[in-house]
Amino acid sequence: MTNTTDPVQLHKQFIVNTYAPNLLLTRGKGCRVWDADGRSYLDFLAGIAVAQVGHCHPKLVAAIQKQVATLMHVSNLYYTENGPKLAAKLVEKFGVPGRVFFCNSGAEANEGLIKLARLWGNTNGGRYEIITMRNSFHGRTLAAITATGQTKYQKGFEPLPQGFVYADYNNLESVRAAITDKTAAILVEAIQGEGGVVPATPEFLRGLRELCNEKNLLLLFDEVQCGMGRTGSWFGFQSYGVQADACSLAKGLGGGLPIGAFIAGPKVSEVLHPGQHASTFGGNPVTCAAALAVIDIIEKERLLDNVARVGETLQNELRALQAEHPWIVEVRGRGLMLGVVLNHPAKRFEKELLAKGLIAIATADNVIRMLPPLNITPADAREALRIFADVAAAHISE
Ligand SMILES: *Cc1c(COP(=O)(O)O)cnc(C)c1O
Repeated sequence: MTNTTDPVQLHKQFIVNTYAPNLLLTRGKGCRVWDADGRSYLDFLAGIAVAQVGHCHPKLVAAIQKQVATLMHVSNLYYTENGPKLAAKLVEKFGVPGRVFFCNSGAEANEGLIKLARLWGNTNGGRYEIITMRNSFHGRTLAAITATGQTKYQKGFEPLPQGFVYADYNNLESVRAAITDKTAAILVEAIQGEGGVVPATPEFLRGLRELCNEKNLLLLFDEVQCGMGRTGSWFGFQSYGVQADACSLAKGLGGGLPIGAFIAGPKVSEVLHPGQHASTFGGNPVTCAAALAVIDIIEKERLLDNVARVGETLQNELRALQAEHPWIVEVRGRGLMLGVVLNHPAKRFEKELLAKGLIAIATADNVIRMLPPLNITPADAREALRIFADVAAAHISE
């Protein structure tokens, strides 16, 4: 056994080796986190698009503390107060009538969407195939890695579940060509996150909506990363003027507590019946209290406006840097979901940012991803830009 109480040593010895962290964080407030030595960092990762209203927002903390001291968990065999309130709020944001299923993570939310689509398809003409996009990311359960159109996440875990067909993102003809008489649904991210912050084109999403109407298919959106206000509207698809038949949520929904959900619109809201899907923790009073507080804070502090405003400043300033540094090849994204595309692997740039106190991580090999809390102040955004500019000025691209 071990004598050490050092969390880093304990991690190295006892945590399954699926991540390789290099920094011990012990505290957070607003847009900042602190390491064990008391050094502070601007957090442009926000727990991977989770800390939607920043770290330890007093209203979020209070809502969680109150619920923890009142009722923590009783199961879904009983009515509780927060889940239904949250569901009503989410359906209101969704824009058309529907119902919500609560779970605990993004992968599980997508797993639920997949089961929903199969149940609907199997009873509507014996259809079960789901078309997903290459370069997408939908989570790590077996069905979710199969839905994920990247072989690196699937390798070694075969045999994979059947019934998934891949098409090219932003290529409507490729999706059309993938449709068979077994197709039930299309699953897509409005902005691909892990895939490198790649926004859908308006033509693509509108085309998918028309295609689904024409062929009687479900249009499912994975809103796990781009949902909950991140792009400036409650859901990523809304900024395209497109309506989802159903969508998944997680990450930012609980502002730091683990909660996932899917919202099923009118076409599929009555598909599931008692016994067909379940989750022990889903809709838990504490995680739902957190999500209700997150929504309340986003509304009261008008954070969707802040996302648009600060997002635009960040994009403009990053584009100005791009003009100075030819190895920055593109700045893309929407709202506070931004990607800076380099012409070389971004890991080293990520390390240089961290050394100067900015957490913004590399994804899809050559993209620096920025996902700050939605309540980031203009001053914090300016500081992040200053660090980014300093690092860019000193950066050697090879
Ligand atoms: C992170 C992510 C998931 C997986 O969520 P988990 O909570 O890690 O299971 C699914 N889809 C998208 C778009 C994501 O960004």
